[in-house]
Amino acid sequence: MTEVEHLPRLSIASLGGTVSMQADAPGRGVTPSLDCEKQLALLPQLRELAQLEIATLCLVPSASLSFVMLLEVLAWARAEIEAGSQAVILTQGTDSLEETAYFFDLLWPYDAPLVLTGAMRSASQPGSDGPANLLAAAQVALAQESRGRGALVVINDQIHCSTRVRKTASLAMAAFESPGSGAIGELVEGMAVYRQMPCPRAVLPLPERVEHRVALLEACLDADTALLQAVAAFGFEGLVIAGFGAGHVSSAWSDMLGELAPNLPVIVATRTGSGTTARSTYGFAGAEIDLQSKGVHMAGQLCPRKCRILLWLLLGTGQQSSLCSWLPH
Ligand code: GLU
Repeated sequence: MTEVEHLPRLSIASLGGTVSMQADAPGRGVTPSLDCEKQLALLPQLRELAQLEIATLCLVPSASLSFVMLLEVLAWARAEIEAGSQAVILTQGTDSLEETAYFFDLLWPYDAPLVLTGAMRSASQPGSDGPANLLAAAQVALAQESRGRGALVVINDQIHCSTRVRKTASLAMAAFESPGSGAIGELVEGMAVYRQMPCPRAVLPLPERVEHRVALLEACLDADTALLQAVAAFGFEGLVIAGFGAGHVSSAWSDMLGELAPNLPVIVATRTGSGTTARSTYGFAGAEIDLQSKGVHMAGQLCPRKCRILLWLLLGTGQQSSLCSWLPH
């Protein structure tokens, strides 16, 4: 047996994003152009850690990923684990990373880690963070302590759980946080050090259909109800509202949500970026007591974008009646 054959098998796929971007001429904007092979060429030491199975599944900015594309990526990742890989790493754009990580986490049935990473600086920029993030992702992916934690986001030497992680800065290197709980671990001298124990995980079955749509609207000052009326008219099957404060809307929006809620699942989350929604504090029209009496679900800790992912997946298998159990306070 050669030395390489002793190494664990690690599967890495590129989906695009800044980590794969460079400018094709000086002064031009960067676009996805480095496939997985070219990204790995920037990090030759990775081949000393593992036998690599690599794939370029797409090369797109992460705002252009679709649920159908993610299901194809998931099928590839599952096949890699079934073929003997110890873990899977996905590199992608950071813009939608908080959503894709949660999507994969809800559907990932293995103890083997699924690690997502990206970069804030393209391969054309000095101090590009792509190779360092990829190395950290591999170190986390191969660590025994990472097993049983579902999909993890590894970036800027931190390890985040996919349920909490959010991109909270547009261009800063330290662009990711897990508000409320903090990162679950960090990289210390190349080792994954966890600060929190793994949480019990529940996994959803694969969706049986993909054509359904869930709307996400933000409550804002003096907004009329025209867009809410359009939600039902355009055939959306679920609605998430990024509400004010602890999960509040105007009294006019509350009336409209009350009309919608008997016909489709409606979730109200907080648009603040951290904290939970209230359940029993405020008694005014448009607050949580009023909304719940109309059949609206309060999101708890889950941010509006992740609520939309959850609802889409639940609707895809007809499990929307279990929604409450997925919305922790
Ligand atoms: N800053 C983003 C990134 O890290 C832009 C592009 C994208 O999300 O694909 O990749």
